[in-house]
Amino acid sequence: MLCDVCKTNPAERQLNKVVNGSVKTLNVCRQCFNRGGEALVVPERKCPYCGRTLKQINGSLIVGCARCYEVFSAELNPIIRQVQQL
Ligand SMILES: [Zn+2]
Ligand SMILES: [Zn+2]
Repeated sequence: MLCDVCKTNPAERQLNKVVNGSVKTLNVCRQCFNRGGEALVVPERKCPYCGRTLKQINGSLIVGCARCYEVFSAELNPIIRQVQQL
């Protein structure tokens, strides 16, 4: 079974978490357990100028606007490097 939070690592522990007023039992990996089941739920980042998400850019390797390079610079740099090597 995969961790309910990151959906990447195998679940090893259970975590009771109050969601919308009711207690929910999550199966989580050790990492997410230690973070209280919170930190790995990362809201998807969007370019505030064109609204393109990193996922969309990764899929097409086309940025929405010039500002995307600034917004996603940390994430895009390795991708752009990869593309330039091809
Ligand atoms: Zn996890
Ligand atoms: Zn943009």
